[in-house]
Amino acid sequence: MSVNTVRGRGAAGGRPRGEGQWALGHREPLNPNERSKKDDNPLNVRARIENIYAHRGFDSIDPADLRGRFRWYGLYTQRRPGIDGGRTAVLEPEELDDRYFMLRIRSDGGQLSLAQLRAIASISQRFARDTADVTDRQNIQLHWIEIENVPTIWKELEAVGLSTMEACGDSPRVILGSPIAGVAETEVLDPTEAITEINQRFIGDPELSNLPRKFKTSISWLPDTPYEANDVSFVGVIHPEHGPGFDLWVGGGLSTNPMLAVRLGVWVPLHEVSEVWHGVIKIFRDYGYRRLRSRARLKFLVADWGAAQFRQILENEYLGRRLVDGPAPDLPEKPVDHVGVYKQWDGKYFVGAAPIAGRSSGTQLAGVADLAEQYGSDRVRLTPYQKILVLDIAEDDTESLVEGLAKVGLEARPSPWRRSTMACTGIEFCKLAIVETKARAAELIEYLEHKVAELDADISIHLNGCPNACARTQVADIGLKGMLVRDERTGDMVEGFQIHLGGGLGMAEGQTAGFGRKLRGLKTTAADLPAYVERVANHYLAGREPGE
Ligand code: SF4
Repeated sequence: MSVNTVRGRGAAGGRPRGEGQWALGHREPLNPNERSKKDDNPLNVRARIENIYAHRGFDSIDPADLRGRFRWYGLYTQRRPGIDGGRTAVLEPEELDDRYFMLRIRSDGGQLSLAQLRAIASISQRFARDTADVTDRQNIQLHWIEIENVPTIWKELEAVGLSTMEACGDSPRVILGSPIAGVAETEVLDPTEAITEINQRFIGDPELSNLPRKFKTSISWLPDTPYEANDVSFVGVIHPEHGPGFDLWVGGGLSTNPMLAVRLGVWVPLHEVSEVWHGVIKIFRDYGYRRLRSRARLKFLVADWGAAQFRQILENEYLGRRLVDGPAPDLPEKPVDHVGVYKQWDGKYFVGAAPIAGRSSGTQLAGVADLAEQYGSDRVRLTPYQKILVLDIAEDDTESLVEGLAKVGLEARPSPWRRSTMACTGIEFCKLAIVETKARAAELIEYLEHKVAELDADISIHLNGCPNACARTQVADIGLKGMLVRDERTGDMVEGFQIHLGGGLGMAEGQTAGFGRKLRGLKTTAADLPAYVERVANHYLAGREPGE
């Protein structure tokens, strides 16, 4: 098939109207978001924050910056307290806006030095009311930030090599990486240098700061990130002739219309990862759909083109050469979260510990930094499962560290319920939320630890405050999508969840990889959720096969 033919199919996908693809000449913005990005490169908002808004205060902020371009620096207004989920969709954006911001800090690969961890902890305690959630994108997210403090926060972050640039927005977001890259006993090739190179060369590049929507990346030798749920993923694989390198996947994304990434069938050596990544993101920029935001993720283009045509465009138009055919990687039966005590390749140990559904604080992070320093470590890692790891611990010190972490509220030997429960931001701060998530996750864990204490397996529970699936609703054993449901006892609409059962990531081809079954009729009120999960767990324990 010729490239022109491919273009034709990609352009319209059989639809009568164009999709706003730049590569096909559609440069006129087709919606307000596209207009805002064209009017002014979103990266330019930094100067206005530093020179105008931080001095004149919240009320001076241009609405197009406030609800648009601020995101390119990790800033979102948080939800005004006291607005229930029933009003989420009916209020105007300004009615939902609080005067405070969420601030997301990039930590690519989840890697943080102690100096960086201390800087975040200190900022959290002084400027963010001691909030510091660990997200499932290996970021730290602060809340209650005031615009007046943003330049100082940036200065302090940048002094230790951290940034909030393109932490959100239609841009290349934080890059996921194995939390144990560089120390894993089974890792053949540490891709940290590729993550660093992409960061240094392309994050903040104005040529890549107006994408159709967000662009998520995972680069890891070990398949311990949710690589199938990213726009582009590089997964470690050994080529029989060429040796260690990376298998390339594209087009994954959850939210509404969830799709798993597909393999392009190519092998990429480590030194070419950034070049190939650059080719893929430029395809997204140039060919990505821009008419409707609901169709503007790369997954829709990949679904229309297919893997073979995507590879052809990548090779012919963006790399100017053929890529090497490559084998599929070995994939685990289930994701690895690294909670516990494990040996590193150099004889030291790392300790992975669980907050409750990602909820942490500046005080807790400062406590982790103190402990790490006490035991001679200079680095920690965040995981895509909302966990925190301390690296480089002597074997004799691991038990003391486990005890110390428990004292600051982090469990290295948590119950299976605490270990496997994640929650998104939810109604406490998120303007799109319909229901509460973090506090509800904490209550759920406490209930299940008492009622189903004998559980000897991990049953993953992902609580999401709305259909956007930030905590990966569709790939949990029990995925929960926040919505309003009718309480049969009172007839009132109350907070509740639609239930997806039996999803999973990180499963080899031919196994049961895929999305949880969405049980359309199956919903529960939030109040009934603990008893519902208890019944599911007991049913599973009673009926499982030997070895399951
Ligand atoms: Fe907000 Fe919805 Fe994402 Fe939760 S899933 S953080 S409620 S957008």
